[in-house]
Amino acid sequence: MADALNQHNQVRLTANPLQRVGAFALAALARVSHPDQLTTDAFEAAVDNMTRHLLITADVAKAADPGGFWLGASYMLWPNSKINPTARGKQSPDQRRGLIGEWRALPEPAAWPDAPCAYCERPACKWFGKVDIPLGASVEHRNTTAPGHEGTPLCYPCVASLWAFPYGASLTGGRAAAIHSWDDAFLAPVTRLAVKRTLANAQAPAVKTKAQPTWYARELAVLEAVRSYDQRIHAGVELIVLSNSNKEQLLRVQEMEQPIAQWLRSTTTRSDRRSGYRVLVAAQASKSVSGEAFLARRAFEDPAAIMHRTTAYLLGRVSAGGVVPAEVSGLAPLTYSYCIEVLNMDEKDVARIKDLAARLGALLGQDSRPGPFGGFMRANAKGGDLYGWFRTQSVQWLLKTRPAGMPRTLLPVEDYRLLFDDERAWSHRRLLVFAVMEALVEAGWQPKGSAEELEDVSDAAASFADEEAN
Ligand SMILES: [Zn+2]
Repeated sequence: MADALNQHNQVRLTANPLQRVGAFALAALARVSHPDQLTTDAFEAAVDNMTRHLLITADVAKAADPGGFWLGASYMLWPNSKINPTARGKQSPDQRRGLIGEWRALPEPAAWPDAPCAYCERPACKWFGKVDIPLGASVEHRNTTAPGHEGTPLCYPCVASLWAFPYGASLTGGRAAAIHSWDDAFLAPVTRLAVKRTLANAQAPAVKTKAQPTWYARELAVLEAVRSYDQRIHAGVELIVLSNSNKEQLLRVQEMEQPIAQWLRSTTTRSDRRSGYRVLVAAQASKSVSGEAFLARRAFEDPAAIMHRTTAYLLGRVSAGGVVPAEVSGLAPLTYSYCIEVLNMDEKDVARIKDLAARLGALLGQDSRPGPFGGFMRANAKGGDLYGWFRTQSVQWLLKTRPAGMPRTLLPVEDYRLLFDDERAWSHRRLLVFAVMEALVEAGWQPKGSAEELEDVSDAAASFADEEAN
């Protein structure tokens, strides 16, 4: 019997993300690194610990008072529960303590329903409803629901995991935001940090700030989590934002896919990618949103836009200063690895585009006038005739401007296919523009010409930059 009970109190990881975050939060509360390491005693101590936190609110009149943290959070997490009943104002602290204790206690085994836990299939201890199961953790209505019963049968470790979920989340702005991944090794430290922060916030005096909220702060927290993680990331990273409150029922799940999460991590672990990161971030910024917050946002929403923004930023610099910015070189390792590892371009194709860019760099760099470079930019912009431009330049290349040692053909058939006859042609052309800028910087080329000629280049770059930014 003792064994059976022990087994009932073993926290297991299920297929439910909120339960998983909560299970790791319980582990963190018990100061062990994985839910598997929770002994029955440690599990019970962690649950008691959570109950104690709630009991502190019994002596508190209002959520904003010292010690009112969990009362304040309860309206968003557990509306209409025993911590915040309508009659709360008229209850004595003892009555409040009694209700909270009742809510969180393990039901007597004799009263357990004859139903398996909806998450882990061990015997459930009770039927639970919306109070204990936030929106995001609901399961489909199951046939096992007996007549006259409302809700979902859960075992005690699974419902305790749901109670622990808010510890593993950030509770700000009336919402709970948690980071989840199917990579347990990543989820463990991320949840541990969240628990540490939640416990600190619960201790801190309630602050009412009217400060402007930071744009994409939750996405930014995910970016920081993946960049500071010290191992390879093996699964995508989800951002779960929810509210269970009566005023707002919300569940939003966004995923940062594994390749970009792992690539972002490489911008801290690899020295050749670290130096360009600052420029990559600067390139993402807008007037109201910081570069890193926008980078985080795009990593979820539109990874291709990160590269488009970077090219646009560089072209904006060309257009503002009439020179190709030296930062292009530092960005090169980031750009090429991003194309291959995140945008899934073929390594051989990227190498071909770099070789083509070297030829174009040689062709354009022979001339210190800005005109030819401007012509190339214009040909790449929307409505430009890049193919026509190549035709004209190919003749030049063959007849006179080809440097020694370079092939006779400027645009071989394979390269033609990449730029004009491929479903990713547009991405290849953008990469080509980047690679040509890199080749020109490497060659030390800077345009010299009349103000008018330079302005012409600026205009061409600006029109392309605007287009990229859209
Ligand atoms: Zn269960």
